[in-house]
Amino acid sequence: MKHEMLAICLGQTGGMTNSELLVGLLGISVLCGYGCWTLARWFWNAPCQPDPWGKEISAELAKDDCTPLCPHCLSPHQLSAEFCPQCGAAVGAYTNWLPFPRLFSVGHTLRIGTGENFKRSPLVIAGFFIFGFTEYGPFAPVYWFKLIRNLRKPACSPTSEHLESSPGKSSSESV
Ligand SMILES: [Zn+2]
Repeated sequence: MKHEMLAICLGQTGGMTNSELLVGLLGISVLCGYGCWTLARWFWNAPCQPDPWGKEISAELAKDDCTPLCPHCLSPHQLSAEFCPQCGAAVGAYTNWLPFPRLFSVGHTLRIGTGENFKRSPLVIAGFFIFGFTEYGPFAPVYWFKLIRNLRKPACSPTSEHLESSPGKSSSESV
């Protein structure tokens, strides 16, 4: 049975001797080994992506005691924190995997759609519609209404938002 299966794999359906099967098996093994070796060589020799920062920052990032930053608002937080103390985004390594804390993470993500300025690409907007439907089910139209109301507000770029909130500038200077 094993020989028949191998013969079918080799494209031969009958009349194969044991030595022919052995040669075929060796050929397949050599090809597989060469493929794995080529893949490994390609992987290890691939050029590294350069970091957008300098060597000093790379060395700081490699330290165990470096301060983690929230990916949403860039505020520093404790290493053991589950949520950002500034904006409420999930920052823990396993927060989204834990059943109860995950609910707060989902809530934070959905609130971004209804109350914050976000990148308004068709993919992101469709994602909010689908995510709202999967989380709220029959009550999703209520979420969609608030989402559309937020989308109708004029979008402002993060740069202008940052300029408006910077302490050194008055509102008349930033306009
Ligand atoms: Zn944050």
